[in-house]
Amino acid sequence: MAEVNQEERAYGAWDILISRAINRKTITYKELGDALGVHHRACRYFLGLIQDFCLNEKLPPLTILVVNRNGDIGQGFTAWDVNNIKEGLEKVYSYNWNNIYNPFEYASNGETKDGIARKLINKEVDKKELYARVKVRGVAQSIFRKALLEAYNYRCAFCRTRIEVLLEAAHIIPWSKSSEEQKLDVNNGILLCSNHHKLFDAGLINIDKDYRIHADPTIKTKLIGRKMRLPEDERLHPSKESLVKRLQLI
Ligand SMILES: [Zn+2]
Repeated sequence: MAEVNQEERAYGAWDILISRAINRKTITYKELGDALGVHHRACRYFLGLIQDFCLNEKLPPLTILVVNRNGDIGQGFTAWDVNNIKEGLEKVYSYNWNNIYNPFEYASNGETKDGIARKLINKEVDKKELYARVKVRGVAQSIFRKALLEAYNYRCAFCRTRIEVLLEAAHIIPWSKSSEEQKLDVNNGILLCSNHHKLFDAGLINIDKDYRIHADPTIKTKLIGRKMRLPEDERLHPSKESLVKRLQLI
């Protein structure tokens, strides 16, 4: 049996919740499940994805709209103080949701973030077309991070830490200066732990075109002069051209 694609369900649920929010109405698990053709008890999985997205993007807690048949909020809901539901509802009702793209649109044709990340590292996807489909920055970044985790085998390219929660996707040509293609290009990325990501973004640690690490004199680190750790697959190595361009940009 094919695995259920919760992201695809979240795509459908998002539009339903937005239309309820605009009409200042709640929805029961049963109504939501029926609308999507799933059992009401299965709603919590894709609602969790929507809840996480709203938390990460600091949006009002959209999933507060989903209630059981007594009108009470579900147990999986953690995005708002349950003793002050009224205020949370008002935030959701009064927010201008028309400005937000459906963050799960990439899944509308049955894709998943993991699947897209795999295509990115296998170079099987048109990055520009993909970026147009993803639209939402937070989603693009999370797909990019997944691809880099795979490419760098879940280790910081500088210090080799494997602590996954610390690992982040750094852009060589910074996001704000990247083309649409570069924003999702594994060759424009390096997997770094959060400390090294901050130092890299601040220009306090740099990499030359031979992948050697340089640091500002104020930074004491054993990394200076060492080569960064590269992906096994040569096709995924950072672009030398971008590394040189970065030095001119920062
Ligand atoms: Zn590190």
